[in-house]
Amino acid sequence: MHDTSIKHEGGCLCGAVRYTLHGAPTYSGHCHCRSCQRAIGAGFITWVGVDPKNFHVTEGEITFCATSPGVQRGFCGRCGSSLTFAGDDWSDIGVTAASLDDPGIAKPESNVYLDHKQPWVVLDDSLRKYEKLP
Ligand SMILES: [Zn+2]
Ligand SMILES: [Zn+2]
Repeated sequence: MHDTSIKHEGGCLCGAVRYTLHGAPTYSGHCHCRSCQRAIGAGFITWVGVDPKNFHVTEGEITFCATSPGVQRGFCGRCGSSLTFAGDDWSDIGVTAASLDDPGIAKPESNVYLDHKQPWVVLDDSLRKYEKLP
């Protein structure tokens, strides 16, 4: 049973967008795909998953960009912080773990899209590894 009384809050860098996530994340992992790398200009994105019905924008609004067919990336239209990922093939939405007020609640369990991993990214070998997606 998913305990939705647990509540986590987060938001963008400038504070214009704030959100609440109810319940523990459904998953957490590092994505090394080129799209994620370009989307935030970093080596990889750490995502936490959430059922869309447990995710609520409480302040401002998320701006969306269709970055690939069937994929919507959400960000703050003011400061550009990456916030969400939604795809036609995904029932949960991804929320950037680092946009949480307490990113430490994310417990990444896997690395995905390692075929795009940058050579200067050092992995935690105890996590599950996938060349693409599980
Ligand atoms: Zn912002
Ligand atoms: Zn990715």
